[in-house]
Amino acid sequence: MTKKLIYDLTLDELTHWVSKQGEPKYRAAQIWEGLYKQYYSDPASYSNLSKTLKKRLDQAFIFSPLMPSATLSSRDGNTGKTLFELSGGARIETVLMRYTSRNSLCVSTQSGCAMGCTFCATGQMGFTRHLSSGEIIAQVLYYANILRQSSESLTNVVFMGMGEPFQNYDACLDAIRRLNDPDGFNMGARRFTISTVGIVPKIKKFADEGLQVNLAISLHAADNATRSSLVPINRMYPIEKVIGACKYYIQKTNRRVSFEYGLINGVNDSNLQAMALGDHLKGMLCHVNLIALNPTDGFDNTGPKQERIDAFLQILTAKKIQATVRTRRGIEIQAGCGQLAYQQSNML
Ligand code: SAH
Ligand code: SF4
Repeated sequence: MTKKLIYDLTLDELTHWVSKQGEPKYRAAQIWEGLYKQYYSDPASYSNLSKTLKKRLDQAFIFSPLMPSATLSSRDGNTGKTLFELSGGARIETVLMRYTSRNSLCVSTQSGCAMGCTFCATGQMGFTRHLSSGEIIAQVLYYANILRQSSESLTNVVFMGMGEPFQNYDACLDAIRRLNDPDGFNMGARRFTISTVGIVPKIKKFADEGLQVNLAISLHAADNATRSSLVPINRMYPIEKVIGACKYYIQKTNRRVSFEYGLINGVNDSNLQAMALGDHLKGMLCHVNLIALNPTDGFDNTGPKQERIDAFLQILTAKKIQATVRTRRGIEIQAGCGQLAYQQSNML
């Protein structure tokens, strides 16, 4: 019998399994609490379960799906990333960003990505496989456990690591719902952010879920020709459609959308582009995050000079669009946005 990942189960499924073992149902709640409140990663940790039940748990389930194969910290110690190997050998990276008043975890949703955005290190490596909901959850619990050792906790989880969350929609939503459980990990929906390249039907579906989860859209250009050259999926879901879907999301949820805009020297950073962006977003409940493009091996360009970034920001502000420049973090350990690709030379 192949073992299942325990974090892939809902509480109902776990209860069903417990009943099948001839155990009372409350055992499921005990196991659940061990996983999501105590962060046990081994059946042996349960002091409240019988030896027999612990043995059965061990025979039926995997508790530690992530094999950390390298960890790196930025010079200031505020950004750390871990490279994990998953079953079957797929690799992912998870990044912890510590700020003064919050600890934000950037999780991967796929190993690699099929979207092929030209400037993105994950896109450059191609697609390996989807992660299961449990593999996404395991990243969160792994770091929650580490932080607890220094009496800290995770305050936010952003789906901005490797992969396109809306290409793996169900696993991402299942992971959020499970982590949301007040009797388990109990992380409020508002503490999650999903970032998408703009899969229009999924943005609409997401709007209809009735969740308070934040939505970020990776826009990167204000005209379709430029955007298609950077983000190939734009040919299927052009800017107007993406923005239309965002308006639907805002109307349904009354929540603010974030637009990510990676500024690339001489490509999408002109005053004209800033004005066009302002026109697209006029009157929307939104915020623009400007990011100077981080360097990647496969893309021969980088972020513009500070003056250009400032000018771009000023135009948006003059058009009454809320915008900020996101500070770069963890660049030297390839943990900045879009730099999550396995590069052995960097890890050893
Ligand atoms: N696939 C999703 C989420 C993962 S990418 C998405 O595209 O939104 C996370 C963020 O990093 C996205 O906003 C993406 O556009 C950005 N990004 C990718 N490569 C980058 C780079 N080289 N420099 C800066 N941001 C980058
Ligand atoms: Fe995939 Fe996002 Fe990278 Fe595009 S930017 S290749 S969607 S991870």
